[in-house]
Amino acid sequence: MTIITVNPATGQDLATYESHSDEDLGVLLQAAHEATRAWGRAAVADRAALVGTLAEHLRARKDEYAGLITQEMGKVLSEAASEIEKSAVTAEFYAANAERILADEHVEIDGVDAWVAHEPMGLLLAVMPWNFPFWQAMRFAIPAVTAGNGVLLKHSPNVTGSALALQRAFEEAGLPRGVFTTIVVEEHRVPEVCERLIADDRIAAVTLTGSNRAGEAVGAAAGRAVKKAVLELGGSDAFVVLADADVAEAAATAVRARFTNAGQSCVCAKRFIVEAPVADEFTRLFVEGVQALRVGDPTDPASQMGPMARTDLRDAVLRQVEQSVAGGARLLTGGEAVEGDGCYVQPTVLAVDGPGVVAFDEETFGPVATVSVAADEADAVRLADATDFGLGLSVWTRDPARGRAFAREVTTGAAFINAMVASDARLPFGGTKRSGHGRELADAGLREFANRRSYWSV
Ligand code: NAP
Repeated sequence: MTIITVNPATGQDLATYESHSDEDLGVLLQAAHEATRAWGRAAVADRAALVGTLAEHLRARKDEYAGLITQEMGKVLSEAASEIEKSAVTAEFYAANAERILADEHVEIDGVDAWVAHEPMGLLLAVMPWNFPFWQAMRFAIPAVTAGNGVLLKHSPNVTGSALALQRAFEEAGLPRGVFTTIVVEEHRVPEVCERLIADDRIAAVTLTGSNRAGEAVGAAAGRAVKKAVLELGGSDAFVVLADADVAEAAATAVRARFTNAGQSCVCAKRFIVEAPVADEFTRLFVEGVQALRVGDPTDPASQMGPMARTDLRDAVLRQVEQSVAGGARLLTGGEAVEGDGCYVQPTVLAVDGPGVVAFDEETFGPVATVSVAADEADAVRLADATDFGLGLSVWTRDPARGRAFAREVTTGAAFINAMVASDARLPFGGTKRSGHGRELADAGLREFANRRSYWSV
């Protein structure tokens, strides 16, 4: 069986890959299991040094990897390069901090030598999405591997070239073969293969970044196997502009916060909620900024937004726009596919009263924003929290204390005041509510897949 990747900017086929048969998967699983056992015994300092080499490798090959990402899923080249740079920065962070974070923690108990060690869990199954083909996988894999675990990666089929390049990157940086293994599985076999792998004794735990549909399937399989699962799922982040905000700055940042990666990011701001006194000014500036976006060939440095990654994803977002307009939303700009071969969608803004409209209630994973007017701050809290998701929140106000107070009223995994939501190697990243559970990055991410083992010695 084969997988064919397609360039979403042109609709042309890119490459054909052989998928792994069940027999291949058995061989890869056993090899990964054995390599992981040896890797977990290596000293933390030795593992961290190799992760440092991975950072150098990523920087040296940045242009090549960025080109591959852009070809496979259509983001503009500068954003693809940032994705590699961010992966390198994260590898440097763990290379520098692993020994501190994984150090034994001594516990004072009379007459006993007691401590908590952070030991590897083993081989981890990682199911990853296409929207940041390198970064999503690296965000999990760099700390997981630094902690002494192995990784079996099941990536999205449309980024199979990137998935295989990730394995090569780990190997060329000097990590032992089998510590990071990419498996290639066609879409129709994915649920069954993942279920079987999760149940296998050689898999210690699983992580999934993706949709709620996939997260529910993997979380349920992990539950049946009594294995840990980290789930990084959808988001419908609010971007709240209070009446005392710097409206021009908020509107300029809002354009980036929504339309980066053609809107295909879990932490893109999706619902813009503006206090009534500044609603007209914000909406005018935001719509002007959106209309000024240069949409086009992602390899052209002048382009600010490329195509969406696949035709089915484009069609799903356009369907949500149509349903929203039918449900009472007013189209302020955009709303249609761009004619031609690629998967381009016009950057779109909808005016929406609040819950009850598809684009407000569901995650829109593409270049579509909603703007809603809040009567006052309490109404802004109500609207911001009126979602099943709870990933990030951005609040704009000239009074940071007011921003913090606002954030405490809304349940999310991160709150940014006068800034757009973004992940950072130094801060934990993860969701609340239906955005999932578990944390990646920072100290928490390195310990997430560590066996926190208690020792008692007399
Ligand atoms: P997706 O369709 O759920 O795919 C994600 C991964 O899950 C793919 O590798 C997919 O493989 C796999 N998958 C699908 N069904 C599965 C099943 N039943 N069992 C095991 N694996 C399964 O999501 P997507 O459309 O690629 O990504 C967009 C979604 O990811 C959005 O909802 C977005 O918010 C979320 N996301 C979340 C974060 C975060 O950190 N919270 C970050 C990025 C994206 P196949 O494609 O082969 O089915």
